[in-house]
Amino acid sequence: MIAKVEPLTPARALRGPFDYRIPGEMEEVDVGSMLVVPFGRRRLLGVVVDLADESELPSERLVEPLAALDRRVPKELVRLGLWAAEEYCSTPARGLALVLPPGAGIGALPRVGIRRVLTAAITDAGRAALCGTRIRLGGRQRAALDALADGPQTATRLNRAAGCGHSTLRSLEARGLVSLDQSEQRRRPALAAVGAPAGRAVEPTPAQRAALAAIEARMDERQPAGLLLHGVTGSGKTEVYLRAAAAALERGRSAIVLVPEIALTPQTAARFEERFGDTVAVLHSRLGAGERHDEWLRLRRGEARVCVGPRSAVFAPVADLGLIVIDEEHDASYKQEGDPRYDARRVAERRADQSGAVLVAGSATPRPESRLRLERLTLPSRVDSRPLPPVELVGSLGATGVLHARTLDALNAIGSRAEKAIVLLNRRGWSNFLSCRSCGRVWDCPECDVSLVLHRASGRLACHHCGHTETVPGACPDCGSVSLARHGAGTERLERELERAVAPLPVFRLDADAVTGRGAVAALLRRFDSAPAGVLVGTQMVAKGHDFPDVTLGVVVDADSTLRFPDFRAEERTFALVAQLAGRSGRGPRGGRVIVQALDPGARALQHAAAHDAEGFLSGELERRRALSYPPFSHLIRIVCSAREAGPEAAAAAEIRERIEEPRAMVLGPAPLFRRAGRERTQLLVKAVGDSAVRAAAVRAVRDAVDGVARSRSARGVSFSVDVDPQ
Ligand code: ADP
Ligand code: ZN
Ligand code: ZN
Repeated sequence: MIAKVEPLTPARALRGPFDYRIPGEMEEVDVGSMLVVPFGRRRLLGVVVDLADESELPSERLVEPLAALDRRVPKELVRLGLWAAEEYCSTPARGLALVLPPGAGIGALPRVGIRRVLTAAITDAGRAALCGTRIRLGGRQRAALDALADGPQTATRLNRAAGCGHSTLRSLEARGLVSLDQSEQRRRPALAAVGAPAGRAVEPTPAQRAALAAIEARMDERQPAGLLLHGVTGSGKTEVYLRAAAAALERGRSAIVLVPEIALTPQTAARFEERFGDTVAVLHSRLGAGERHDEWLRLRRGEARVCVGPRSAVFAPVADLGLIVIDEEHDASYKQEGDPRYDARRVAERRADQSGAVLVAGSATPRPESRLRLERLTLPSRVDSRPLPPVELVGSLGATGVLHARTLDALNAIGSRAEKAIVLLNRRGWSNFLSCRSCGRVWDCPECDVSLVLHRASGRLACHHCGHTETVPGACPDCGSVSLARHGAGTERLERELERAVAPLPVFRLDADAVTGRGAVAALLRRFDSAPAGVLVGTQMVAKGHDFPDVTLGVVVDADSTLRFPDFRAEERTFALVAQLAGRSGRGPRGGRVIVQALDPGARALQHAAAHDAEGFLSGELERRRALSYPPFSHLIRIVCSAREAGPEAAAAAEIRERIEEPRAMVLGPAPLFRRAGRERTQLLVKAVGDSAVRAAAVRAVRDAVDGVARSRSARGVSFSVDVDPQ
């Protein structure tokens, strides 16, 4: 038998698969098997992508694998990984690395295995030996039996308690005085639940019931189907997901539930655990290696049949998939930033197609892509018919402080009534930049063409693009002036202003500077939840799907800052951010209100968000996208060339443009980007209008052009990154 193996090497140029002869004793090898193969002078992990009876290579050139691992990736996932590699212009090795068990990947053999625990129990003969005198026992042996007299114990504990090692236990076992058992022990991830309304069963609302009926009907057709669950904030989408997953389980099928970063949204995962117990496995990067390994294995063996996790969970090794849920489908975290730059939402569609599963993408602010392509189910109102909070737009032009007078009034009311508020400002730090009042010098990053942000708590100026930091200057190095001006405000400064406004209520800050380390976000959210009153302030992290019923005020500061980005998704992002933050307010019986501060309160995205009018926003947005041939009416591919010195990167981009031979792909650029992390950058944008065949042709054309230029001598020192469906 011949196995076609894709070796997991980081080399981009290498195109497998390669043939290996499978010896008789490896007869279990099949598609998805993980092998250790000799490759040149190296040993690499490889994945079997196909089997054949014969090879085109002469038999003396065929070699055998060194070992076969005892894990096998499901065939369906091998196909999915290879598809993702093609689709996102990556290599088969990188595509396959996505579907491997945790810990295995390019250049890494899996280091973590099943944890087995040795447990000892005393036998009747052992008890007799302890009481009688006829059987002679060594000191350690007696100590071990003594310790076991009260009940079985693990070998590790015995070793600590009685000082006896494995050899003592083995000899006691050989004499029939103890019995030993080696069992698997699961490393169980701890989920930090945040004030979930524990376990109380709710009666579905008529709208939830109707959505569920539609999902179940699709499931029974056993045809792939894509549904958009468009439900306003607080309409009970999670309950629909929970019941849809239960419906899949009832039919003997399994479910994958994708959530934005688990650390930010621990509530959803906790609700699934609460409802399904051990049938749920969670997979995410914050777990320990052992925990991740065990969760993967429980899914692979079918012991767990519901997987909850962030984007990578779309590759969970479940069999007979019936449902994929994408919670908060508008969330940016579904796109992977490194190669392969896959979009879990597109991979989920593909996987649902492969297995005849139902895809349910849920959001209060769906993407235009999903609105256009998926069948829409609606949850038009909040549970218990609570109204959506009224949203007030206030102009901040010419205002003196960060907070508008109206906002301060509302915060005062929160303070005097001891209620809760959430305040969003999508900018970290104390102030945006620092300048010299005498000569106008601005402190810039030495590695990037951007200004440095002042962080007061750490006493540093920091670059938010490359991580460079330096100490805050006392005087201007150019003119010696000590009069330095701080411009603008970030969350750090806002926190201070809020503390003054709502004193003595506590203020909790949630952003990447204030909250670091495992479990810290969940802990902070828990503190805010259990405080009787207070303010949560932070970046977009505060606008995620949190469900705090006693929040009565939502505030967005500088709401149109995201509109000023030169990005065709700027309006979509701004709309979603404001509408999502508004959705955190007024979820409980006390009701709520929202204030949105903006330079231009008349902006379309803000007007629609204030009116809770997602449909109106989407139809306008789709019209605009159609007119300009932007997604979802086209496919985009972004190519960035970068180099240390200016010149070669622009030349490489120009040459790629020349080489893209696909008439249906329009190439925009080259256009220079700002220097970042010490690298000069130039961008090309490829626009392909048409179906998935056109898209695939464009991706191939780009790959060939980039590979061709990357191999040429003139491209030395130039790096290339290709992003299909850039966000
Ligand atoms: P969404 O994700 O749509 O914003 P959630 O799923 O967070 O909304 O639900 C909001 C709140 O409503 C939660 O506290 C949830 O427990 C509660 N809830 C959901 N469905 C019902 C129902 N049918 N009856 C009563 N309460 C419900
Ligand atoms: Zn100066
Ligand atoms: Zn920088």
